[in-house]
Amino acid sequence: IKTLAEFYRTLVLKAATPEKVRHQPDPALLDRVSLFQGDITRLEIDAIVNAANRSLLGGGGVDGAIHASAGPENFWKSRTLNGCLTGESKITRGYNLPASHIIHTVGPIYSSRDKAEKAELLESSYRTSLELAVENGIRHIAFPSISTGVYSYPVADATRIALNTARTFLESENGNKLERVIFVVWSNKDKGVYEELIPEFFPPG
Ligand code: ADP
Repeated sequence: IKTLAEFYRTLVLKAATPEKVRHQPDPALLDRVSLFQGDITRLEIDAIVNAANRSLLGGGGVDGAIHASAGPENFWKSRTLNGCLTGESKITRGYNLPASHIIHTVGPIYSSRDKAEKAELLESSYRTSLELAVENGIRHIAFPSISTGVYSYPVADATRIALNTARTFLESENGNKLERVIFVVWSNKDKGVYEELIPEFFPPG
């Protein structure tokens, strides 16, 4: 999986106009972040994040795919976790997945009425997943685009939250322990959104 440093060598930048760049360039960060298009359940890494629902018992979308690939042991273990609040995260082993761990997080169901609250909850899903990863000695973590499927969070807004929270965390003291954060997109449309927004949060220099 390519890092952003490699990505910038091959990408014709779409956005990165100076007024849009919110963060200072930090070349070291470019080796610690990746964008990958494909099936998150196939990644052979320390941890993949599941966009779960509050029951933690499986659902559609990426949750269904992760539960199906992880197998019944994960299901039984998830039952003992007693669900999870929105914006929080819990960890299990990866069971039959190639990934060693699953970090189950519950993103918010979007509604435009409570925009600020939903944004905080989505940020919290990313942040608590990253914190849990570090607490468990995880060095490589992959995120799907949380809440942007069935939970209908607007993709560009959700992507800004994902990128901003990762950037802030990677620069924090705890974040130093993480070697790589991988953003996994499924559709071409979402891939385009990430490619456009990445240079605002991880400018190439
Ligand atoms: P939520 O309920 O949090 O909205 P969804 O699973 O409906 O979660 O969608 C989250 C994102 O995961 C969507 O962008 C969807 O296209 C994507 N997705 C679905 N299956 C996979 C998969 N196997 N690997 C990676 N991403 C996936």
